[in-house]
Amino acid sequence: MNLPGFSAAGELSRYSPARVTHPGANVGRVRDPSVSRYAAGRLSPIRRVSDLRRLRDEHFDVLVIGGGVTGAGAALDAASRGLSVALVEARDLAAGTSSRSTKLIHGGLRYLEQLELHLVHEALTERGLLATRLAPHLVRPVPILVPLPPASPPVRIWHRGYYGVGLAAYDVFAGVFGDGRGMPMHRHLTRDGARHLFPSLRADAITGAIRYFDGQVDDARLVVTLARTAASLGAAVVTSARVVGFVREAREVIGVKVRDLEAPDAPEFEVRARTVVAATGVWSDDMSQMLSDVGVRPGLRVRASKGVHVVVPRSAITGDAGLILRTPTSVLFVIPWGGHWIIGTTDTDWHLDRSHPAASARDISYLLDQVNTVLDRPLTTDDIEGVYAGLRPLLSGEADSTSKLSREHAVVEPMLGLLLVAGGKYTTYRVMAADVIDRAVRRLGNTAPPSRTDQLPLLGADGYPAAWRDRQDTARRHGVTAGVVEHLLERYGTLTVHLLAMIAADPALATPLTGAPEYLAAEVAYAALAEGALHLDDVLTRRTRISIETPHRGTESARHAAMVMSEALGWNAAVRQREVEHYLARVLAERESQTKPDDLAADAARIGVPDVRGFAADRGVDLLEVDL
Ligand SMILES: Cc1cc2nc3c(=O)[nH]c(=O)nc-3n(C[C@H](O)[C@H](O)[C@H](O)COP(=O)(O)OP(=O)(O)OC[C@H]3O[C@@H](n4cnc5c(N)ncnc54)[C@H](O)[C@@H]3O)c2cc1C
Repeated sequence: MNLPGFSAAGELSRYSPARVTHPGANVGRVRDPSVSRYAAGRLSPIRRVSDLRRLRDEHFDVLVIGGGVTGAGAALDAASRGLSVALVEARDLAAGTSSRSTKLIHGGLRYLEQLELHLVHEALTERGLLATRLAPHLVRPVPILVPLPPASPPVRIWHRGYYGVGLAAYDVFAGVFGDGRGMPMHRHLTRDGARHLFPSLRADAITGAIRYFDGQVDDARLVVTLARTAASLGAAVVTSARVVGFVREAREVIGVKVRDLEAPDAPEFEVRARTVVAATGVWSDDMSQMLSDVGVRPGLRVRASKGVHVVVPRSAITGDAGLILRTPTSVLFVIPWGGHWIIGTTDTDWHLDRSHPAASARDISYLLDQVNTVLDRPLTTDDIEGVYAGLRPLLSGEADSTSKLSREHAVVEPMLGLLLVAGGKYTTYRVMAADVIDRAVRRLGNTAPPSRTDQLPLLGADGYPAAWRDRQDTARRHGVTAGVVEHLLERYGTLTVHLLAMIAADPALATPLTGAPEYLAAEVAYAALAEGALHLDDVLTRRTRISIETPHRGTESARHAAMVMSEALGWNAAVRQREVEHYLARVLAERESQTKPDDLAADAARIGVPDVRGFAADRGVDLLEVDL
């Protein structure tokens, strides 16, 4: 199966890392100008083969380890400056923390409260850029209520004044004037006004509310789009490629050793690069550990703090906005997510398997207890559709409690040729990326220009407002409903035309996916042919969010999706069976872990099913040193 209009073989032969100039970069190793940016940004199976070959043959300016938002952002930053770039990711794009966030592009009200004003300003600037210029198809405003709790009249006035001033400042930091803010302004609501907007709020739990806006994003999709945009500018992007060591010359890192996890019997190979950037989130300490034989000081330590979310159907709570609630240790978000609500998060230290952090029954009951303090109909575990856990990469050392640790990022160079970037938050990925690539450029003594990613719309963003405006016409022309076009536009932006072309060439691809009818079979095929999905888990968990959006957690969609992937990737019956069995076993293990009382028991239940890419438990460096 190919994308209409582009044969896979043609794509390979036409892709050429020639040195040319193009808008958005200076001079560098970029795509052949006769190939469209869309075609060059297609992460197809054949592209993986060609990019693997490039890893072996080329000497890159920058090699990025880690395909989370930081690594994908860094690859894009470097590629758009005209540098030759490779990105290697051990598992799937966004398989780490970057698919497990609260999915907010936000300034962070908590940082405002802690008077970390520069962080708030920086994040709100990024929010505006993403929502208006870089990714308006992926980042949208979401209204959120700050409920004002019952109190005596003077305290009530104080609450309203305190939060009101805070949210006014939030709006000011986002830029009150101009169209770059990308979000509406905040508004005060009475108790009746708040309950009108959010009828499920218990009348005795509030005296009023303030409504403000932040950005919402499908975090995994933004990462894939960043990686594809980097690929469209010439970056080699290879997933299932695990870095297992560094190549050194004297006391300088000159490359990495990579294992291709899709070819377990193939020998490791070396990739040469003038600068290696490790953007490995909670795996950062492993990078320094790989250099421990030469006595390298890591320069930074990253600790993991687990955050759990539960997903419930939209019908479980009646409301047209999200909520932000204070908890004893932090805050809790209740955020509308299509036909669902996302409720989270927890904030506790985690020292167990980092690839598959497990949510325990204690985490889940904590979340339900917190949200039930304000809901008129309490939620129970029966309401839960999905559960996911992620690990915050926190720069360690600043405080004892994880929720107080700084979210600021750091760039260090523990050894010549190796830069580590970690910390920060999803919203500010572009700032982190620019910082680390600035360091790389200085090191290279290169004349590459400053970062220009603030001017570079991601794939699918160009022409998005017009495509949204014309969605009814598009639907009529393609014989699908306007709802289908809206769904596609909000996930692919103007790349939607490619999915519609696939459906025109093969109408069976318009079939809704079994068990998840809001998704089309075409999306599964496109994920495999253009978005770098190599396994069923990649499609059900990250290209779509079926694993958290259905009560069956994707098990009822697995066979249909595997069948579509078989056609796209040429799987035989045995591979298909293995993929389905792995997915079912993974869901079973996760369900089991969520009945366990604590982290240790939940982790033990979850690690019974190893990663589909073939490596087993993935424990932290510090865990190896303690005896459980
Ligand atoms: C519960 C929770 C909620 C959050 N909510 C928000 C939010 O709403 N808004 C916000 O702005 N931020 C939020 N954050 C923070 C944000 O999600 C993270 O800061 C961000 O995703 C970190 O991205 P990263 O790329 O640095 O790390 P990761 O996404 O973890 O990426 C690191 C990658 O490195 C790869 N890797 C590791 N070792 C190797 C190796 N040896 N070889 C190759 N690859 C390797 C991993 O597989 C992984 O994919 C949240 C975090 C959590 C945990």
